[in-house]
Amino acid sequence: MNPSNLPTIGVIGAGTMGSGIALVALSAGAQVVLQDTYQPVLDKADAYIKKFLEKKDKAELYTNLTLTDTLDAFAPAGVVIEAAPEQLELKQELFTKLEAICAPDAILATNTSTLSVTAIAAMTQRPARVAGMHFFNPAPVLPFVEVVRAAQSSPATIDALVALAEALGKTPVVTGDTPGFIVNRVARPFYGEALRLLGEGVASFQDIDRLVEQGAGFRMGPFRLMDLIGIDINAGAMRSMYEQTYGEPRYRPHWIQMQKLAAGELGRKTGKGFYEYKDEEPAATPAQPQAVAQPQAVQGEGSLLISSGSFAPGLAELAVLGGFTMSHELSGQPAAAFVAAGRSEDAAAIVTAWDAALAPSVPLLVQGADIALSEARSWVQHPERVAVFDGLFLTDSTLVALSGPEGIRAQVAALFASLGREAVWVGESPALVLPRIVCQLINEASFAVLEGVGDAETIDLAMRLGVNYPRGLVEWGAVLGWGRVLAVLDHLYTEYHEERYRASVLLRKWARG
Ligand code: NAD
Repeated sequence: MNPSNLPTIGVIGAGTMGSGIALVALSAGAQVVLQDTYQPVLDKADAYIKKFLEKKDKAELYTNLTLTDTLDAFAPAGVVIEAAPEQLELKQELFTKLEAICAPDAILATNTSTLSVTAIAAMTQRPARVAGMHFFNPAPVLPFVEVVRAAQSSPATIDALVALAEALGKTPVVTGDTPGFIVNRVARPFYGEALRLLGEGVASFQDIDRLVEQGAGFRMGPFRLMDLIGIDINAGAMRSMYEQTYGEPRYRPHWIQMQKLAAGELGRKTGKGFYEYKDEEPAATPAQPQAVAQPQAVQGEGSLLISSGSFAPGLAELAVLGGFTMSHELSGQPAAAFVAAGRSEDAAAIVTAWDAALAPSVPLLVQGADIALSEARSWVQHPERVAVFDGLFLTDSTLVALSGPEGIRAQVAALFASLGREAVWVGESPALVLPRIVCQLINEASFAVLEGVGDAETIDLAMRLGVNYPRGLVEWGAVLGWGRVLAVLDHLYTEYHEERYRASVLLRKWARG
């Protein structure tokens, strides 16, 4: 589709998404009508679009923009993309009004993140011309669009939106109309688990963000991202998914979100969310995947005792790189003893034996992906020397999450520093921070495959392009090892006894090989 073939594009709502979508359409050469009921938002969008186009040497395209506060201005539009707040009744009302204004063959699309497109289409007399066209934030940057097929959408409508997305320079994927479609559904645990970790006092939101960004390579941690998305929008998505699935516990909203809403702290757009902002523009910095820095190991002294086991891959190489001599068998007194075995690999027997043999001054560091700190402490005579560490995310990280007593923290932090890793101390938590967040994400992806939302490749593509994840989640599950992912989930389930942490039957099957 060349620019002269592009339809006039109407955009309802000039907020975070509407202004970004308008900019995408203008940049592709389309005539754009941007409408909002609130003049200050229109003024802000106007300034933002103008500045952005000037910066890109496309100032002449600004003349293709019409700003308006009335829906009547959509009469010439071939496609209208609605980006009003995430409220079903509001969207239904807007679509009912739109069909009286637009030409009969105009396509009416919604940018909803989670609401039923079918329920929106049902309010119109021409539901076959209604579908979802779901952009990601920031729309001018993220290259992905979900084209959502409502139960009534005609193939011609879907084909036209796929062609339009491509003409706007985006990669489209067609999804069914299931709650949250692909990306918003699969990403739920990213926010949900982080909020629970914060709510349980396990770590500060800054430390959770740091671990997620520097430990796992995400471009933005969950709190920084919620601030960018808008805490109201993110919470609305959570609530909508929870309601549409009749209370699926994986999507349960968190009181911290509701408190932020009550305080009017909605993120960047209000100048304060979890973080504070000054002079923010509506569109964020480009979200590229974070390249995980390879930390330089510095020379350590002495020997390290490291058990066999698969829950701290790369630890032995790090120890050698750090200048330690390394042993897998008890002999003499090492600088520290690491238990890399998982629960099913008999970690308890190793911990008990080593605690009996080693001087109490030797820290005993147990991998904490499927072993709780209090559990490891219950196996030993000297609990004051026991800490758990995240061995699963050690290799590509600059940080390591640990949980353990004050008395050994300085000694253990120095030890990890000589392995090139900064210690981040968190409170006791099943599966610490990253195994918990990442394995729940992988679990959600497996549920989505199981429930036919998309195949594994499509879901991995959607998460990489739609929210810039450093890896597709199914691919990540294979890299971590399905057995280990399942062990983390079963550990969470055992500790919490909550349905939220049940592993999908498909993931269990994948773990069996
Ligand atoms: P926003 O609050 O930034 O913007 C919504 C705009 O709609 C506001 O400017 C508001 O004044 C305007 N509005 C309210 N009532 C209106 C009406 N009756 N007619 C016209 N305009 C009206 O919200 P947003 O983040 O841009 O989200 C908009 C939609 O896009 C939601 O459905 C949301 O779920 C979806 N979405 C959001 C994101 C995100 O990251 N924020 C990403 C993808 C999709």
